[in-house]
Amino acid sequence: MKTTRSVVLVAPRKVEMREFPFPEVARDALLVEVEAVGVCGGDARFYAGQTFGPEHPGEFPVILGHETVGRVKDMGEDATESMVIHGGPLKEGDRIVWYPLIPCERCHYCTLQPQSKHLCQNPWVYGWINCERPENRPWIYGGYGEHVYIRPGTHIWKLPPTITLEEAVILDTLVSVRGVERALTPYPNLGEGLGLASTVLVQGDGPVGMCAAAKARLLGANLVIMIGKHWNRLEHAKDFGADFAFNISESDQRIVAKEVFKLTGGLGVDVIVDCTGEPSSLTQGLDMLKRGGTFIEIGCILHKGTVEIDPALQLTAKDLWLIGQYYAPPQQYERDLRLLSSKRMPFHRMLSCRFKLTEAEEALKAHLSRKWLKLMIQPNK
Ligand SMILES: [Zn+2]
Ligand SMILES: [Zn+2]
Repeated sequence: MKTTRSVVLVAPRKVEMREFPFPEVARDALLVEVEAVGVCGGDARFYAGQTFGPEHPGEFPVILGHETVGRVKDMGEDATESMVIHGGPLKEGDRIVWYPLIPCERCHYCTLQPQSKHLCQNPWVYGWINCERPENRPWIYGGYGEHVYIRPGTHIWKLPPTITLEEAVILDTLVSVRGVERALTPYPNLGEGLGLASTVLVQGDGPVGMCAAAKARLLGANLVIMIGKHWNRLEHAKDFGADFAFNISESDQRIVAKEVFKLTGGLGVDVIVDCTGEPSSLTQGLDMLKRGGTFIEIGCILHKGTVEIDPALQLTAKDLWLIGQYYAPPQQYERDLRLLSSKRMPFHRMLSCRFKLTEAEEALKAHLSRKWLKLMIQPNK
């Protein structure tokens, strides 16, 4: 029997290579040969045992990988009609990316708030599907494998030749900092929200932080400051639009806060984007925010405990805008593909390490070590 290999996470910190039957492609489906998959912070933290909260422990066994780039290997006769294809027509051999959620098209958000399909109450999510249950046949729905089976209803983008593999792997990270654009409201011209001459502080020196700095810079920020914990990452901050980078692992948080106030004329920053995934960054950030400023929480996707906030001093007195951002709708893929095509930021430089499929666990551990920026796995190399 012909098979295809995928890396399966069977429990936290327990990974194994499994062979799956090579699938017969249905009329309305297609099969992708994976060229590369980005290692997402979510993948690495889930591998390490973090969950989506006490009521959402996550599914095992699972083939991770939702930041996938691949070539169409086999296409069902009706796939052109059953998929939502952008930049088509699509044929075998084309390089594609796809939106990792298939919205149900029936729930409150899909039907009544269609601009928010990322909030769908019953989505199918590539990279998070149980790969043993019979109803999930043919099981290969994660990018950490040689092939991915694409179901009807998937939003697919055919990549133009101008976008390189390295850039395509960054796409989902760029998409995940959509919140920076949400700060373009309410009244940047009156000093509230992100606008020309704004000051922006990015907390977190990982790929998400770099993308946030890049977007803030491209959207007109006058001053972009990054705070992180790793010089090996912070040294790249300037490539992605930051003017200053501070390392809080070397100095006290209060000393860094003092520097931030000094750089902003004693006021604090207009906009803070928290990309750390650490709950404590919320309180630390709020203390550096200007009154009337905007705080955007992006990094805390997986559950990692709670923090204490003083609502009087840190919220009311600040007269602030607090934005929590959860992923993005499919439209964001289109927008960020255009941004990548424009080559206005050297996003390809974020990619610092490549791994084979047999080294997937090493890649997850490497992400957790924070030694690099973006990592990718190339399952067919
Ligand atoms: Zn991701
Ligand atoms: Zn829905």
